[in-house]
Amino acid sequence: MEMAVDKQLLRDTLERYFGYSTFRPFQEEIVTDVLEGRDVLAIIATGGGKSLCYQLPALVSGGLTIVVSPLISLMKDQVDDLLARNISAATLNSSMELWEIRSIEDQLLGGKIKVLYISPERITQDSCLQFLEKLDVKLIAIDEAHCISMWGHQFRPDYRRLSLLKSKFPKVPMIALTASAIPEVREDIASQLKLVSPKKYLGSFNRINLRYEVREKKDATAQILSYIARNRGKSGIVYCLARKTTEELAEKLRRAGIKALPYHADLPDTVRSATQEKFVRDDVEVVCATVAFGMGIDKPDVRYVIHYDMPKNLEAYYQETGRAGRDGEASDCIMFYSPADALKMRGLLEKEYTDYHLSRVAMKKWQAMRDFCETRLCRRKYLLSYFGEEYDDPACDGCDNCLHPKDTIDGRDIANKIVTCVTALGGKFGAGHVADVICGSSNQTIIAYRHNRNPAYNTGKPYTRVQWIGFIKELVRLGYLSVAGDKYPVITTNSRSKEVTFIQELRLTRPTSGGEAAFKPAVQ
Ligand code: ADP
Ligand code: ZN
Repeated sequence: MEMAVDKQLLRDTLERYFGYSTFRPFQEEIVTDVLEGRDVLAIIATGGGKSLCYQLPALVSGGLTIVVSPLISLMKDQVDDLLARNISAATLNSSMELWEIRSIEDQLLGGKIKVLYISPERITQDSCLQFLEKLDVKLIAIDEAHCISMWGHQFRPDYRRLSLLKSKFPKVPMIALTASAIPEVREDIASQLKLVSPKKYLGSFNRINLRYEVREKKDATAQILSYIARNRGKSGIVYCLARKTTEELAEKLRRAGIKALPYHADLPDTVRSATQEKFVRDDVEVVCATVAFGMGIDKPDVRYVIHYDMPKNLEAYYQETGRAGRDGEASDCIMFYSPADALKMRGLLEKEYTDYHLSRVAMKKWQAMRDFCETRLCRRKYLLSYFGEEYDDPACDGCDNCLHPKDTIDGRDIANKIVTCVTALGGKFGAGHVADVICGSSNQTIIAYRHNRNPAYNTGKPYTRVQWIGFIKELVRLGYLSVAGDKYPVITTNSRSKEVTFIQELRLTRPTSGGEAAFKPAVQ
């Protein structure tokens, strides 16, 4: 059933219907593969031109291309876009009236439609499948294919049922597309959809023009104000967790003379679309938004994306920061981070995910998000490796850690004191108490438990209590200590703790602020 693909025909069609003279990376190969009847798994970053990978074959194949897509609004946009290009397209989804569906079905039976967008719940209904089997289906495309995987960040149970498509249409090639897939998800997509030895295309996720930065969250509003004051006239988005924060922040920015508006799901549709329009037309500089903002907004010159709060995982972070710099010009991605925020997020996730498996996945993703915030290493490398991509450039020149490497100190002695202290405490106390013991406090708990006999008692100089807490947390992140406890977190030793006694090198971040020492007057 293989057919020779006419390359010239592909180029002509690309030019004629889409107005492009060249293919983006992978597009030509993918189009050729599906036309030759092969299954394809395409993992290409947002904006990489995935839609063309099934829209172009739809024009050359002669029959019908079915596209499964999760969002009605996205389907409508795509259909409008195709119709504007003179390509006959339609959608079948649950928001439609029966007569509309009948009319589309008639057109399909008459072979008048080339591209059909269907929601996952509809295409897996028996009646719909029976109908589709009557048509000359040439290709099935599964958009946002990561939704099929529990390891993904947007698992949709509806997508699971798509596994039956391969058995219903065994001869029809299938292409699965996603902009976001950690290695586990990739495997899952291929196996769930039962793709037959699929050709895999993995684009780079590196966005070289984006500069990543994580700042300690102290007075985020003031920091954001001063950043925007230095970047007047540029477009930016500030993502906040809470709807209330978007309102309050926008209000504060406006009082400082900055054109800012809030955006969140509670605002009326009319207000939201007006805000989007104003943003696209540069009538507003900054949108303070929840994650509801950004889908389907094609603004190439967003110069900065600020995260007022930590997102729940790196997929979300990548997607949200990815809205900056679509035009390829240098753009900033700044996140305000505090460990307290991270814990707050964990609490929210615990409430959100009640299913045991999904909750474990969410926690793992949360942990990676937090580690990204706290790492001293290249953030770009961290982000890319999360998506299974290797990045070998020793200095990316585009993240705070590469541009301003954090100063470190020899941490072996410090680590030794902490591990000694935690061991003697039997892993039953929190970081604050461990620091109290090391700093020689004589608070009630210490007296009551006789922790002044701990071998590490009062060995804390020259560091302050807050700085010791910082060291303890860093050792946890580095894996030399663990956090346990149901009610409140306690520090415990683990299998790697004893390494600190003989390790050759252990660097810890040189403490800068956060301790009383930082505020000591220069003159004693
Ligand atoms: P994705 O689905 O991967 O996020 P899209 O399919 O929406 O990407 O394409 C992103 C943008 O790139 C669209 O504006 C699209 O028209 C454009 N595009 C796609 N292919 C090409 C090409 N070969 N040449 C130029 N522009 C392209
Ligand atoms: Zn870097």
